[in-house]
Amino acid sequence: MISFDLECDKEHRFEGIFKDYNSFEEQIKNNLVACPLCNSTKVKRLFSGCSIQARPVSKIAKENTSRTFFELVKELRAFVESNFENVGREFPEIARAIYYGTEEARGIYGESTFEEMKELTEEGIPVLPLPNVEKMEH
Ligand SMILES: [Zn+2]
Repeated sequence: MISFDLECDKEHRFEGIFKDYNSFEEQIKNNLVACPLCNSTKVKRLFSGCSIQARPVSKIAKENTSRTFFELVKELRAFVESNFENVGREFPEIARAIYYGTEEARGIYGESTFEEMKELTEEGIPVLPLPNVEKMEH
């Protein structure tokens, strides 16, 4: 069994559980996956943001003011967005290339699936999931 985070065209998020990856693809292709909230079959797999820091960044602020977890998360995201390079969906590939030294070492962020992130982590590549602040605020 394998589970995926899915989203319908009305941005309802839900989890789909499938026998394996092939049956997931098959069911998506044939519009057999319907949103549990609105029954829409326009369903896509959700990719989530993530980042990797290959080089230390010098200007990490070390003030110890009290902040809420939400503010910290927001800061983390802003930090990544202003210091790291956005590589979009090429994230898993480039993260791997940086880790194995075939790409210049730098901080990057982008999107990957949970499976891709899991694979990277299993290879020992220090990938950090990036919280999606915009969506959290809604
Ligand atoms: Zn829906």
